[in-house]
Amino acid sequence: MKYIGAHVSASGGVENAPVNAHEIGAKAFALFTRNQRQWFSPPLSNDNISRFKANCEKYNFLPKHILPHDSYLINLGNPEKAMLAKSRNAFLDEMQRAEQLGLELLNFHPGSTLKQISDEACMKLISESINMALDKTNGVTAVIENTAGQGSNLGYTFEQIAFMIDHVEDKSRVGVCIDTCHSFAAGYDLSTDQGYDETFNHFDEVVGFSYLRGMHLNDAKKPLGSRVDRHESIGKGTLGMLVFKRIMHDPRFDNMPLILETPDESLWAEEIRLLYSL
Ligand SMILES: [Zn+2]
Ligand SMILES: [Zn+2]
Repeated sequence: MKYIGAHVSASGGVENAPVNAHEIGAKAFALFTRNQRQWFSPPLSNDNISRFKANCEKYNFLPKHILPHDSYLINLGNPEKAMLAKSRNAFLDEMQRAEQLGLELLNFHPGSTLKQISDEACMKLISESINMALDKTNGVTAVIENTAGQGSNLGYTFEQIAFMIDHVEDKSRVGVCIDTCHSFAAGYDLSTDQGYDETFNHFDEVVGFSYLRGMHLNDAKKPLGSRVDRHESIGKGTLGMLVFKRIMHDPRFDNMPLILETPDESLWAEEIRLLYSL
């Protein structure tokens, strides 16, 4: 069974996210549990938490189908000490919020070198950051998202993701989310049958499907290997429909959140219906 949803708004309170997801016919959803563009956010109130849980129950959303995304400001591999500490604090807060909401996953972009340190040194900092957050929380898995490799962002190859997982102590609480647009931008050709087979066989060999906790379903605006992160609505970009049809028929993507992060939210309900029709 496939659990498709979108990254819905939580404006007015996290408890509104499951309602917004239900309204577009989603069976899964993603959300920000705090303002994604600010370093500090007020803590979740008991009222926010209990209403979030009640709404998830009312609309049949299970924790494993809910994929919160962390703030874009966080860089767990930041080479500057003070900024790294700030990122680690904010990441811990994100993990704790997920824990308070009874969730099991937190999706994040691994980090970037800012062209000041080597890829390997940066990835070791990222793994250390994950270890620190896992040490202080319970029950929440840190889900590394593959990136488009824009700028100095790491995590655009499956080898880099495997390296980071390798340096995480508690392997039971680290996972992966694959974004179709990011994969294509990073040079994995998901637009053809052969490319689809090769990409996911390679992922299984290098990382392993046992680590996969969710997918982001996005078409791409830019060509294969562009290293530019620009999402497009399903079927309207350079990636095309093949990859989405294949995913919908591929049991390796059963029972996990499959999340749209496409730019036109007025199309989400239609995109969800389209995906289920495949
Ligand atoms: Zn993301
Ligand atoms: Zn994504």
